[in-house]
Amino acid sequence: MKVVGLRIDVDTLKGTSIGVPNLLEILAKHNIKASFYFSVGPDNMGRHFWRLLRPHFLKKMLMSKAYSLYGWSILTAGTAWPGKLIGKHARLAIQMTKDEQHEIGMHAWDHHAWQRNIAHWPDEIILRQIELAMDELIGIVGNCVTSSAVAGWRATQRVIDIKSNFNFTYNSDCRGDTPFFPLLSDGTLGTIQVPVSLPTYDEIIGHTVSEEHYNAYILDKIHLHSGVPVYTIHAEVEGISKLALFENFLTMATKEQISFCPLIDLIPSSVEHLPICSIAKGFITGREGWVAQQKHMV
Ligand SMILES: [Zn+2]
Repeated sequence: MKVVGLRIDVDTLKGTSIGVPNLLEILAKHNIKASFYFSVGPDNMGRHFWRLLRPHFLKKMLMSKAYSLYGWSILTAGTAWPGKLIGKHARLAIQMTKDEQHEIGMHAWDHHAWQRNIAHWPDEIILRQIELAMDELIGIVGNCVTSSAVAGWRATQRVIDIKSNFNFTYNSDCRGDTPFFPLLSDGTLGTIQVPVSLPTYDEIIGHTVSEEHYNAYILDKIHLHSGVPVYTIHAEVEGISKLALFENFLTMATKEQISFCPLIDLIPSSVEHLPICSIAKGFITGREGWVAQQKHMV
């Protein structure tokens, strides 16, 4: 039996209020517990999508049929007026996730602003964004939030340093292949990282693999995985327009002896054997701009 960490990123109000309950139902049916990462501040994600409308990304949007993938309400959220506060408007869906005993993690206060500005934000703003999100999320689900995952895998060394001052058991801020201790600027070790190791739907659909072969492609990647596999889905995508595709993925996985768990279960009981790695900017085919990547010491 191969075990895969299942991470569900929730970026928007629609993803929280519609995608999350849909996913909770499917996960309960398949008896799966996962990690949900919630964005709880303003939903300005429409700005994110429209910013991508440069020729290359316009082509990508049209190829991946972004409007049918996300729906117009996500593509326009926060473009004409400040986005609605997700934590205030979709409290119940977040509480339901906790009641169903999934792991609850913090994703972002303002997802769009973090993705766009993190490289040049001063420390105080980074701190404030984390504090705002944590206060809101703890106000909704109580004191059970022990991990976080930055928006868009956008973590610089400064972010890793700052996040190590919070009391997280682990973070999932980068792409990589296996859990590790990140090196901090002062040479000490930071909070354990559980990186995402498999591609997301929007990164590969349309050019690397067709819809028809998507699930088999990801399952093959899991079988061939030499590290600790972690798969990310989005409440906006697999929870709404690709719900049937995702449910089929779970059925296929069971037949192929693959099971899923929250990310916390991937941390070994004796952490002293985890590798020490650094984090560097990297690029992933099919994803706009840089992401944080695990770099093994040579
Ligand atoms: Zn996200």
